[in-house]
Amino acid sequence: MNLPPRAECDADPNAISIEEARERIANTLPFLMTSEVLTCDSAYGRICADDVRSPISVPPFRASAMDGYAVRCSEVDSTLSITGQSFAGHPGPDSMPAGSCQRITTGARVPNDADAVVQQENTDKVEGAIVIRKAPTSGLNIRPPGSDSQAGARLIQTGTLLGAAQLALLAAHGIDKIQVRKQLHIALFSTGDELSEPQQSLSPGRIYDANRPLLKAMFASPAIRITDLGICSDNEIDIESTLFGARGADLVISSGGVSVGDADHVRAVLERVGSVDIWKIAMKPGRPLTFGFSQSNQAYFGLPGNPVSAALTGLLFVKPAIRRMLGMTPLENPPIQLPLHGQISKLPGRVEFQRATMQIDEDGEWQVFTTGLQDSHVLTSLHRANCLIKLPLGSSGANSGDIVHVIPFLHFSDGIL
Ligand code: AMP
Ligand code: MG
Repeated sequence: MNLPPRAECDADPNAISIEEARERIANTLPFLMTSEVLTCDSAYGRICADDVRSPISVPPFRASAMDGYAVRCSEVDSTLSITGQSFAGHPGPDSMPAGSCQRITTGARVPNDADAVVQQENTDKVEGAIVIRKAPTSGLNIRPPGSDSQAGARLIQTGTLLGAAQLALLAAHGIDKIQVRKQLHIALFSTGDELSEPQQSLSPGRIYDANRPLLKAMFASPAIRITDLGICSDNEIDIESTLFGARGADLVISSGGVSVGDADHVRAVLERVGSVDIWKIAMKPGRPLTFGFSQSNQAYFGLPGNPVSAALTGLLFVKPAIRRMLGMTPLENPPIQLPLHGQISKLPGRVEFQRATMQIDEDGEWQVFTTGLQDSHVLTSLHRANCLIKLPLGSSGANSGDIVHVIPFLHFSDGIL
């Protein structure tokens, strides 16, 4: 890579790319293989742990798609006497005498002798009989059995998140129990001698812990169980005992205390009880990122202490890792490009994420606006944002009107109906 002279460049020769960090993580993460059986009623947001096959065809019978009359297409030119009725849940007789029709409602079983349903609006009723104004073609307004799914077909694939549509599909097939992955157990804690809980008054030099609420909310999901291990002081003894408290978790996440500075105790402890990599990642905000394995092969993420850096590394690295551990497919979203309102200055050398909002301007055009101060401790600009602007490594900023790459926060969510 040809980088500009140092003063005009923000690159670190030891930094790795976002993609490389993700790949290294993905290559070493364990999968969560344990599963349990739940009633579908309590399976919302859980991950399917086995392919589900359809036990029946749906619809199970030829069903009417309209309110009207079941007829034989060959007879539609004559007046047809109404000799029976088939209502939803109350099927009529299968045989229809020649020259007759059956009154039928939406969802009702179509008699065997009929090959079309004429919509009520296309008929005139005359004393117990109908005259058809618009002749149907064979099969019109009939839902064939199995037109939604055939018995034995795969309905839902392993690794699928069970949202409203999936639960409706299972219910429509009479399935009331499902094998799902056990909840991924995450233990998380914050490190820092300066951190206080909200109910405490702030003594000089201290700040409130924002990262535990941030991370708990970011990873909140029915597929996840979170143990909050609180705030841990900047010393190895405390960190070790906190990590001990995390035993049994599949994934441990901490924030703070991993930069190469005086308070670099997390690394020392992890090197003793497991293994650790600390990567500088060519992104802003967010470097460095710690990834490793704690006791009994628990995956471990040490996120940066600044809340916005913790949020971004959580979205970019931990969320995909969680999906992978749960055996889900990676999230793929279409790229969104919008014109920038305002100006962003940047040095080449790192991918930069700016907190921003997608908004409609006075002319009715969508644009993206940054949300103010972008320092990595500034939560107000994260709170106001609904997306991130992603400027590539080589970019040296963007001007008003430039088309920039935008990642809506929605793209980090699971997008289930
Ligand atoms: P560290 O990574 O521990 O060096 O922390 C970097 C910066 O983030 C420092 O200004 C810390 O005070 C701040 N910080 C660390 N942890 C938290 C937290 N849980 N909530 C808010 N700020 C934090
Ligand atoms: Mg710290």
